[in-house]
Amino acid sequence: MGFERREILLILGVFFLMIGLLPFVAPVYSIIIAIATYFGIHTFVKQRKKQIQKAVGEGMCAVCGARINQNKCPNCDGIKGI
Ligand SMILES: [Zn+2]
Repeated sequence: MGFERREILLILGVFFLMIGLLPFVAPVYSIIIAIATYFGIHTFVKQRKKQIQKAVGEGMCAVCGARINQNKCPNCDGIKGI
């Protein structure tokens, strides 16, 4: 559901960009720029998601929220002194 709302916002944003460009360029170019922007943002978001998934990977510590590294929390497990 959250993804769909973001999609609508993106389409709205691109739509307003297209309207904003209309006084400056030919309508055909504003449409091309809008579509290019839409797909550009889409690709960017996809890559960001992949990067975040890779970075989060092993998950977060339930106690402090730090990134889990090799099944250990760098903060909490360090204090326990394994
Ligand atoms: Zn922790």
